[in-house]
Amino acid sequence: MPNSCPKCNEKNIVKSGIIKERQRFLCKDCNYYFTVKKLGKKIDDYFVTKGLQLYLEGLSYREIERIIGVSHNTVSSWIKKYNITRPPHSDFHPVYKVFKQNELLEYIANEKNIKGSGLLITEFGDKYMMIKWERFKDK
Ligand SMILES: [Zn+2]
Repeated sequence: MPNSCPKCNEKNIVKSGIIKERQRFLCKDCNYYFTVKKLGKKIDDYFVTKGLQLYLEGLSYREIERIIGVSHNTVSSWIKKYNITRPPHSDFHPVYKVFKQNELLEYIANEKNIKGSGLLITEFGDKYMMIKWERFKDK
């Protein structure tokens, strides 16, 4: 079982079926559905790739833990295993949000939200995750 809900961070999680061979969970606090590795010890390659991606984008181990639902120690072990060195990006830090598709459209429809920013949108369970950097803004 994941430790906590990747969206609200509460621990009130129940199993809710298997989707595409992955165990699905439901957070009873915020009604968020999410999937993590299939039962067993082997963590799906998808999450390893996603974890490394997020790390390269500048997120911390604990932020990655919250997003993909594996412990920060596991994330740290992946970074070592694949010998990943993060290039320095000292003057910006990404923020991330998880949206349903319609929420994502609303967010992007407002130009104020995306102007002067770098954006990356990636599928995340049955929702979409957006990572955003305000890297093009003058500070
Ligand atoms: Zn939740």
